[in-house]
Amino acid sequence: MIIILLGPPGAGKGTQAERLVEHKGLAYIATGDILRKAVKNKTQLGRKAREYMDQGLLVPDDLVVSIVRERLLEPDAASGALLDGFPRTVSQAESLDGMLEAGKTKIDLVFSLEVEENELIERLTGRRVCRDCGATYHMKFKPPKVRNVCDQCGGELYQRDDDSLETVTERLSVYKKQTEPLIKYYKAKGLLVAIDGNAEIDQVSQQMRAELDKLQQ
Ligand code: ADP
Ligand code: AMP
Repeated sequence: MIIILLGPPGAGKGTQAERLVEHKGLAYIATGDILRKAVKNKTQLGRKAREYMDQGLLVPDDLVVSIVRERLLEPDAASGALLDGFPRTVSQAESLDGMLEAGKTKIDLVFSLEVEENELIERLTGRRVCRDCGATYHMKFKPPKVRNVCDQCGGELYQRDDDSLETVTERLSVYKKQTEPLIKYYKAKGLLVAIDGNAEIDQVSQQMRAELDKLQQ
């Protein structure tokens, strides 16, 4: 089973992915997380990616496509994967189609998480992430029990460099130009399911689970 989470930055993809992966036992592939790890470890990939990420721009397609190609070959992805933040361009989507065809598998469903722009800005600028386990919080909408401390592992919470207001504005504009066309791309293939992402976290999860359950009927 291959599920894609499409949506602007801050729509709640990572938040929902955490729950869906548990529910369905899928491998979780978030290109943003993989790239941030590479930046942190100062690998060759990380050094190349950083200059784009800091500016809120997309990392070049060839780099991201090869990350996903390798990741999909890992054993935990054999029974299915949830893709978060990939594809982000039509060219990436076409590469993914090729990869899946070669592996004799296909996309089952593409969720499009729809959230209003003002809400996205508030979500992104208030987002906090655990340095150790990567769990995501929000200062107002999903605060940790203890200020700046992760509920799950006790790690320190930090604000991503690209969650500053200036970079958020750029990322939303990049989304509109380069990623939004994917909505049409997947609609034309009959794979798109639009979800109202403005609702509360639990309500959004319920809508998504109901759609996934329909798939297996
Ligand atoms: P994405 O992965 O799409 O960039 P995240 O899942 O990291 O988005 O969510 C962005 C921020 O918004 C996080 O701080 C998260 O806690 C918060 N958030 C996610 N979903 C909701 C929601 N439905 N209502 C309010 N806040 C939310
Ligand atoms: P995210 O964690 O999904 O918000 O991604 C953070 C940043 O990583 C983005 O702003 C891009 O610079 C980069 N990135 C993540 N996924 C991709 C992708 N599929 N294509 C290009 N760049 C990406």
